[in-house]
Amino acid sequence: MAEQVSTWARKRSPWLFHVNACSCNGCDIELVAALTPRYDAERFGAVLVPSPRHADVLVVTGVASPQIKDRLARIYEQIPEPKYVLAVGACACGGGVFKGCYNAGQGVDNVLPVDMFVPGCPPRPEAILYGIIQLLGKVKGNGKPN
Ligand code: SF4
Repeated sequence: MAEQVSTWARKRSPWLFHVNACSCNGCDIELVAALTPRYDAERFGAVLVPSPRHADVLVVTGVASPQIKDRLARIYEQIPEPKYVLAVGACACGGGVFKGCYNAGQGVDNVLPVDMFVPGCPPRPEAILYGIIQLLGKVKGNGKPN
């Protein structure tokens, strides 16, 4: 019963912690737009929190370049289990326009276990909300995605 209640609550209050992992800021602006009253992510319980220790979902924008890989991994470790990773934008999904550059990463999944990808350069706020909803749809009884 307690497990069902915690899963129910988890699916209705995804707290997000955002990391700009060398993004150009385009994806970050769209993420902020998704959280404004116009798109109203709070109707799904999604709010931005200031600490990874309070978060359920790590939202990453940018290429996860070599300069930020270790910091990204350290932030991920601070999020309590069960935790999820949402990669937002073409750069986070696979390097985007920077793929192949000597100083850029190849996407967040080379550093962290990504649960959901939201492609686009940048993705629109509706697409980001759709990604959050799809991610919540994967949350099962043990709190982990299927
Ligand atoms: S996907 Fe496009 S908008 Fe987003 S960080 Fe990369 S270049 Fe910028």
